[in-house]
Amino acid sequence: MKFSQVAKTYNEIEKTSSLIQMRERLALLLKKSTPEEVKALCYLTLGRIAPSYSTILLGMGESMVAKSIAKASGESIEEVKRHIKKTGDAGLAAENLIKSKGKLEIKDVMGTLEKIAKKKGAGSVQEKIEILADLLKKSSGIEARYVVRIVLGQLRLGAGDKTILDALAIAYTGTQKARQKLERAYHIRPDLGEIGKTLASKGLRAVEKIGIKLFVPIQAMLCQRIRELSDVEEKMGFPVAVEHKYDGERVQAHKRGDQVRLFSRRLDDVTSQFPEIVKAVKKLKAKKCIIDGEAIAIDKEGNALPFQTMMQRRRKYEIEEYAKKIPISLRVFDLLYLEGKSLIDESYPKRHEKLEKTVKKSKQLELAERIVCESLQCIDEFFEKMCERGAEGIVIKSMDPSSTYEAGTRGWKWIKWKPEYMRGMRDTFDLVIIGAYWGRGKRSGTYGALLCAIYDDKNDKFLTFCKLGSGFTDAQLKELPKKLTVHKGKPARASVKKNMIPDVWISPETVIEVTGANITKSPSHTSGYALRFPRFVRYRKKKPSQATTLEEIKTLTQERTS
Ligand code: ATP
Repeated sequence: MKFSQVAKTYNEIEKTSSLIQMRERLALLLKKSTPEEVKALCYLTLGRIAPSYSTILLGMGESMVAKSIAKASGESIEEVKRHIKKTGDAGLAAENLIKSKGKLEIKDVMGTLEKIAKKKGAGSVQEKIEILADLLKKSSGIEARYVVRIVLGQLRLGAGDKTILDALAIAYTGTQKARQKLERAYHIRPDLGEIGKTLASKGLRAVEKIGIKLFVPIQAMLCQRIRELSDVEEKMGFPVAVEHKYDGERVQAHKRGDQVRLFSRRLDDVTSQFPEIVKAVKKLKAKKCIIDGEAIAIDKEGNALPFQTMMQRRRKYEIEEYAKKIPISLRVFDLLYLEGKSLIDESYPKRHEKLEKTVKKSKQLELAERIVCESLQCIDEFFEKMCERGAEGIVIKSMDPSSTYEAGTRGWKWIKWKPEYMRGMRDTFDLVIIGAYWGRGKRSGTYGALLCAIYDDKNDKFLTFCKLGSGFTDAQLKELPKKLTVHKGKPARASVKKNMIPDVWISPETVIEVTGANITKSPSHTSGYALRFPRFVRYRKKKPSQATTLEEIKTLTQERTS
């Protein structure tokens, strides 16, 4: 397929704020493509050339790209930079300056970008510039716009993973209904390109068979919340397993022989951050396995230390030095794969039995502390004991035969319970920033308030939940306009009532933790709820699709619909 058709579709998508139109335009494009093109389009539409967990990077910044544009257009670098400054967008600058006819195919674009990513080491800067310049020489203006934006990681069409899954379902099954099946595969193997290609070449049945692949991270199973501890009985029944909720970083470890890779909850490869965990996992007797746990900082006696201590280990440099200063231990709570066999469809008790046999206790690798309870009193006692030790809370896990590992899902098989809930305080919420209002007086020149949203995962939309102006330090306030990416026009997945329209739309990319006094029903917000007296707590390293969901808010206000 010609890349000009892709560029035309992207241009249309950019102009619409309707999610339905966006899906349909994408579906049309995908339907006309070969399986290999579908694969490329799944990545390119998200502004990438590989799945999100991959470490493949193009490695080109704005000044390198400006040089490529100059070479391709015959203009001076100064002129190119002037255009970038004027438009505020290197993509538009390229479009204005590059005038060739354009006869690119999707495979030319993808192949060239892959070639750029492969260039490493001495001399690679110049090589990358030349390769991109060659591609731009063959691009039309509009094609150059999108090539440049993809290279710079600035595509931001507003299509999320779920929108692409919807478009794939529409293109290859005729309806959106199949999305659930595609999504299940995506939770186990979060590679949209692979799923798209399998669907286009072999059909839905083949997608349903997609299973775990070692060294491809599986999306983490998540917890629901309850209002009262006694709700456990209704949601799960007894017995249940109750585990210490450690406050650290979720880590999924994959092992094949001597090869070990670690992944974060965002699916980032964090292998190099935790050398001691890598070493401990290597020592496991199992030849092949995937274990799930929480990495925490520990003191000399092996006791858990607070999250803030653990955060100091999130670093690129001086890793060995910090590993000595702040040792880490992985508290393991699940086993997803063992010796070539997926365990995610087995019940939690069965998985745990195998886990106990797989993990031999050491300082760096230890099973999460847990107890099996037949009564609420037992849960409560364990909770008290954990709180005395400074735990963040407990996770209550169903032991029902149906307690499979629900990858990527916040279901009722795992429930979290924290001390805050007991004190009548609400838990915090993870919200997505979708808009901002300019400040006045002391806050002039920066934003005075942010429009924040929860995530409606059924419809892949961000629904407004509060206008937030408190809790920021002066320095945090000042950096907001720089930190948040302005979106030209309303982002496609943001749903907002008229009286809430912000001065500036923000790309729904940034997740923040917010506390509040209470939740009330609200006609002003598209979620139907408002968080009263919201206060900013901190930035979260989460994807927007991992923000607090509408379903969670409904649960908290006792209005679950399903
Ligand atoms: P929170 O901020 O409350 O941790 P969250 O949205 O990050 O919420 P949840 O799914 O609500 O995540 O809570 C589960 C998280 O708790 C897991 O992602 C994991 O990082 C952590 N955790 C700590 N101990 C356990 C445990 N024993 N079992 C499951 N998850 C645990």
